[in-house]
Amino acid sequence: MTVRADEVVFSKRKRLAISVLPGGKVVVRAPLRTSRAMIERFVNASQDWIEKAKTRMARLPLPGEVAMREGEMIWYLGKTYPLHLAPKVKGGLVFEPDKYFLLQSDQQSRGKQLLKALYRSETRRLASVMVEYYAARSGLKPTSVRINSARTRWGSCSMKGGVNFSLRLAMVPISCMEYIVVHELAHLRQHNHSSAFWELVGSILPGYQKERQWLKQFGLSLPLID
Ligand SMILES: [Zn+2]
Repeated sequence: MTVRADEVVFSKRKRLAISVLPGGKVVVRAPLRTSRAMIERFVNASQDWIEKAKTRMARLPLPGEVAMREGEMIWYLGKTYPLHLAPKVKGGLVFEPDKYFLLQSDQQSRGKQLLKALYRSETRRLASVMVEYYAARSGLKPTSVRINSARTRWGSCSMKGGVNFSLRLAMVPISCMEYIVVHELAHLRQHNHSSAFWELVGSILPGYQKERQWLKQFGLSLPLID
């Protein structure tokens, strides 16, 4: 049986790529103006890989939505902590390290915004330290560090030499955040995923494959915040 793409996303990219999302949806990413015939040929040539990925991804749960309810488990740096409602909370939402999140009861409707703001500032705080550390060691110094709310891209880099990180990085283990930081810094010298690129990543952060694997395996199942 032939597997087809469930969705084709055209964008300013150079190569065709296939991904299978949790639940088994097959998405093809294609450069602008790629013909349907070329996409079909590409998908047909990748049947074995797609079949395997579908089996693997079918076992992964679809990402749920954060609801900010009492008792809900909230991700922070690779672990989950319960959310508790309280009458008065500084700033509306705080994280008590190693214990729980506290949300002010009458701020529940703003809960997701508050969580995103917390994830954003934590990602900025931690990633900035890592950028500084690895820039000093590798000589790869970005012109700027920005935090965005991208859902499926952990990081990216700009033509002007800046690096961007998703606030969702506050949900993954800190070692995975570190890998994404090194990955984006390496792109400042190698603007592709060639073997030279991976060699550079490996020379800065030996053993990064474990973190890359964690992100592949669990990253897309982490809850959505909006
Ligand atoms: Zn990359």
